[in-house]
Order: sequence, then C-alpha cells, then structure tokens
Amino acid sequence: MTHSNGANPSGIKKPALRVIPLGGLHEIGKNTCVFEYGDDIMLVDAGLAFPSDGMHGVNVVMPDTSYLKENQKRIRGMIVTHGHEDHIGGIAHHLKNFNIPVIHGPRLALAMLTGKMEEAGVMDRTILQTVAPRDVVKVGQHFSVEFIRNTHSMADSFSLAITSPVGTVIFTGDFKFDHTPVDGETFDMARLAHYGDQGVLCLFSDSTNAEVPGFCPPERSVFPCLDRHISQAEGRVIITTFASSIHRVSMILELALKNGRKVGLLGRSMLNVIAKARELGYMRAPDDLFVPIKQIRDLPDRETLLLMTGSQGEPLAALSRISRGEHPQVQVKSTDTIIFSASPIPGNTISVVNTIDRLMMQGAKVVYGKGEGIHVSGHGFQEDQKLMLALTKPKYFVPVHGEHRMLVAHSKTAQSMGIPADNILIIDNGDVVQLSPDSISKGDPVKAGIELLDASRNGIVDARVLKERQQLAEDGVITLLAVISTDGVMAAPPRVNIRGVVTTADARKLSMWAEREIGWVLENRWNQLCRNTGGKAPDVDWVGVQREVEVGLQRRLRRELQVEPLIICLVQPAPAGTPAYKGRAEAEPDSRPAPRGRGGRDGGRDGGGRGRDGSAPAPQRQLATVGAPAPAAAAAPAAAATTVAVKKPAPAELEPEPAGRTRRRRSAAAVG
Ligand SMILES: [Zn+2]
Ligand SMILES: [Zn+2]
Repeated sequence: MTHSNGANPSGIKKPALRVIPLGGLHEIGKNTCVFEYGDDIMLVDAGLAFPSDGMHGVNVVMPDTSYLKENQKRIRGMIVTHGHEDHIGGIAHHLKNFNIPVIHGPRLALAMLTGKMEEAGVMDRTILQTVAPRDVVKVGQHFSVEFIRNTHSMADSFSLAITSPVGTVIFTGDFKFDHTPVDGETFDMARLAHYGDQGVLCLFSDSTNAEVPGFCPPERSVFPCLDRHISQAEGRVIITTFASSIHRVSMILELALKNGRKVGLLGRSMLNVIAKARELGYMRAPDDLFVPIKQIRDLPDRETLLLMTGSQGEPLAALSRISRGEHPQVQVKSTDTIIFSASPIPGNTISVVNTIDRLMMQGAKVVYGKGEGIHVSGHGFQEDQKLMLALTKPKYFVPVHGEHRMLVAHSKTAQSMGIPADNILIIDNGDVVQLSPDSISKGDPVKAGIELLDASRNGIVDARVLKERQQLAEDGVITLLAVISTDGVMAAPPRVNIRGVVTTADARKLSMWAEREIGWVLENRWNQLCRNTGGKAPDVDWVGVQREVEVGLQRRLRRELQVEPLIICLVQPAPAGTPAYKGRAEAEPDSRPAPRGRGGRDGGRDGGGRGRDGSAPAPQRQLATVGAPAPAAAAAPAAAATTVAVKKPAPAELEPEPAGRTRRRRSAAAVG
C-alpha cells in the first residue's frame, strides 16, 4: 500500500478523499456511508438493520452516528441509491438528531421515505430532490454525483459515479445484471463503461453474493415456477415475500390475474408499498383485482390469493401470526398452498423454519427453498461482480455491503481480475478509507457501533437495558423489599418475590440470604453511604444501598445456585430509632472478616467466612432467637422514636432451619 499524499504539480498537497462506512460492513444491513473531502461531508444512504436473537424488545438497529452529530455543520447533503430499508430506513430517525440540508434520490425511494418522514414528523427538516437516470447533482463544493440506472430486486435503483477533486469513485449500490428486467429498465452499462474508459480511481461494490459462483438468474425466471404452483393449487394460495421486492410483487399480481384469483393483502408494509408503487406507476394492476381481507373470505378458496409479509419469520408479521393461530382474520386450512418467495436473511433462518414447521403441522402445503425456483436474489453473483469490475476497471477496490467472508471472497474475485492485493482494502464500520490519485490507505477510525431503538423508534435501548432484558428473559427476576431506618437498622425481614427463576432454593432461603446481604451492607458500607448532616436526619444514599445489596445477592446466587436473575432491591426508609428486627441470624456471631475497604468491588465480601465456594464451615446450628413478631413493613415507622436499639443485625452462616411455628409463619409472610 502506498501512502503518498497526492501532491499536485504546484506542490500543494491536496487533501485525501475520505470514505467512512458507518454501517453495512461485516453485516447485511444499515448501510450508511460518509464521503468527506475538505470541509464537505456527503452521505450515501442511511439504512437500518433488524435485531438479532436476544435483542429483546428492540425493533430496529441503527448505526452509531456520533461522528455525524459532531460534524453536522459540514453535512452538505445525502444521496439515496434505492428504497430498501437497509438503505433508507434510518433517515427519518437521523433527521431528528442532525441536519441533512438536501436528499437526492430516485422517485420511488423518496416516495417511500416521505411516508416514514411524515410518520416521524420530520417532513420540514430537509428538502427531497427526485433524480432521473444520468442526472448529475452537485453536493457541497467538491462532489458531483451521476445517477446510473442499475438493476436490482427493487425498481428505480441506481449506481453512483461520484466525482471529487482526487478522482471518480464508482459506488455500485445494490445490483445484479438483469438483462430482462421486469419493468424493462435495463442496466446502463454504457455509462459504467464510459467511466471505466475515463479512469475510475476506486470501486466500492456490493459483496452480498460474493461466495456464489456464476451469474445471478434474472428476476423473470421465477415467473414460470410461481405460475406452476399457483395454477396447480386446489385451495387458497398464500404467498409471502418482501413488500419492497417491487418486481416480485408485480409478477405475483400478474399471476393472480392470469389464474383468476383475487388478491387480499396483509401486513402494513405490503399495503403501503403496493399503494405507493401503483400510485407512481411502478406496478400495474386493476383496482378490482384487490379485495379487502374481511370480504375475501366470502370468495371460493380457488379464487383467492393472499399476499402478505412474514417471509423472514418476523414474530409480528402476518404469516407468522397466522402460523401461530393468532391472526384475527385468517386461519390456516389444510388445502392451502403457502409459498415462501424469499430466502431467509442470515440470522432469520431459525424463525423462518419454525414458521414453516408450524404451517405444515396444520396440514398446509408449504413451498420453500432453493430447489423450487420461486426466488432469486437481487444481488449479483461472482460473474456479475466480475462484469462490474471489467466495465469500470478501477485502480483501487473496496468490497462493501457484506459480512466479512463475503468481503474476502469479493477481494479474491478482484485479484483474479488483475487488481493487486495492495490496491484492495477490506474495512470495517468506522474505518476511514483515504484515497488520493496514487494511494489508498486506512486512516484512524471514527466511532462506530450500534444504537437500538424500541417499538416507538424514539426510545433508545442502551447496553444496560438490553442486558437487563436478557437477564429477565433468561434468568428471571427477584425483587427484594427491605425496611431500613435512617440510622442504619434493618427494621423488618426482607420480602422476596421470585418470578421466572429456576432454582432449588425456596423463597425462604432467598429471604435469608437477602437478610444477610442487607446486614452486611449495613455493617460494612453504611458509613460510606450515609452523610451525616449534623444533628438533622442523615443524608442516606438509598440508591447506593440498593445497589450494594443487589450486587451482593447477585454474587451469592451466581455462586450458590449458578443463576443470574435480575435483582431489584427496593428500600423503604424508616425513621431513625425504629427498633431493629432481630434477624434470624441475630444470635450468630459474625464470622465475616472486617471489610477491606472499597477497593475490589467486593473486597470484604469475598473473605473466607462466607463459604463462597460452597465449602462453608459447618454452621453452628445455634438457633436464632425469634423475637417478637416482625413488624409489617408498613407498620414499622409507627414504632419510631421509642427505642434506641441501633444494634445492627449480624448475619452469619446459619442455614435457615425451621424453628417452630412462629418462625415458619413469618417466613411465609416475608416472601409474600
Ligand atoms: Zn437493496
Ligand atoms: Zn442493501
């Protein structure tokens, strides 16, 4: 790799062109790319990704855009290549956070974007400029961008020729070479060749199918296969595909017409996209082809075709709900033919096969999988990628839009076409590609990562929230109510509630452990957690107390039971002077060593006396004195100010041993 800084003849160094993908690398999704030259920043696409397993309650995944927020004054505009969610799904959200003065893009993509922006209430935050094939737009002082018609599973899609002071970059966007596109709009290969002749500094190319040999079959090739299944179906036909696969949906509507079936649509995105595409003329179908879902039940099954979302097994999509018997209008019939005209995005495979299983178990005929010819990809295979390289003849090459192994495979393909390995960069999100007329190099990376949004698309699910949800889902929750007086006395036994925790320990034992943790915190942490304000009631850091108890109990449960439930400790403060609840462990001498200060999180706690590893010294089964019935939590404050007993309960290694009726009853009460 060379690292010279492209000096021009006058000897003044030109700045490098910087290209910074914030998403879309080492993943399929949330494609977001920053082009930067001098003081200008231009964005290309801003998509979203869908959550993976374990991201509970997360609806969409966005790239971290700290870099753009910090540099928003320099953002001159955005270019959109096409209307897929992984390219436009983030824009409405970003407009709430930083300024994008203008967005140039294809008509269909901008129409779909308009819907999202209206929903988010950000219509007035930017200007939308529609482009046609071969239009050239200027962005800032330094960029001019030509829109080159390409072919993809989505209509109205473009590759870009981005010209900057250091040279021209071809940014393919999503593409395959389809010479018989469904809408007749062919790939403008002449324009790619034109730039190839003039000299392309660098090619950024779609790597989705870099591992697949051969040419990608044309979209039209699925037509006869779908036709066969639809014409042979005895009952209803149910088809699922991506709503945004405009060409596929067009063909399905054409086939419904051909086979004398009326179409019922299910799923919000299916309804929205079809309405938009028909309105703009990207899809042609007579109005009376469609029948509202409530009325379609009155038609004979043989005259019915239901087109719906759910091809990825998304839990809330129409087909997934139908498979679980949870859809209000549609139930599976054993005579149904259900066609999956899509292949699972990596990561969705399990939910898709589960959906297929559920449908089959209800007797339906399910058509899915590669061998059926009912789906082709919208992304070119190796030979398509070679054709792109051959036409554009780039000096440097950066594979994008793909997981790591796809980027590596694409890099090998480029090398087989004669591009030296030194002229190829495999990069990650946040990496900075620096380009000058005679060099390509990686600069210091910028902040990149993910931002998770919940269903409202406003609430950000941060790492802590996600961790808590994972704990809830996987290990359950334990809540703990402690009554502690402002002078540091446990005034009632802790009440423990357990939900969703698989454990051999009963609530009584947990209550006992909780009592010890509280006792330990009061004994060893109280002074640090409470600031004496001289005479008046001390200022207690109750949150700190709660956290200390939670951490302690967490460690104990992990050690003793190998579970890690979410623990929520609530403290009800009682007035100073509230009599101490004489804990079950009261009579036991404290066998714990003195705390070693705050140093290592649990300094004192990990000391010997607590039987950390289960090899606890045999408890001296000296039964606790069971004092007066414990005051109920709420009653505790009433007993205030009479006693001066500030003796803190000293927990010890005493197994909770049934000690007569009184005790047993109290334990039961304690765990509510
Ligand atoms: Zn796409
Ligand atoms: Zn894409």
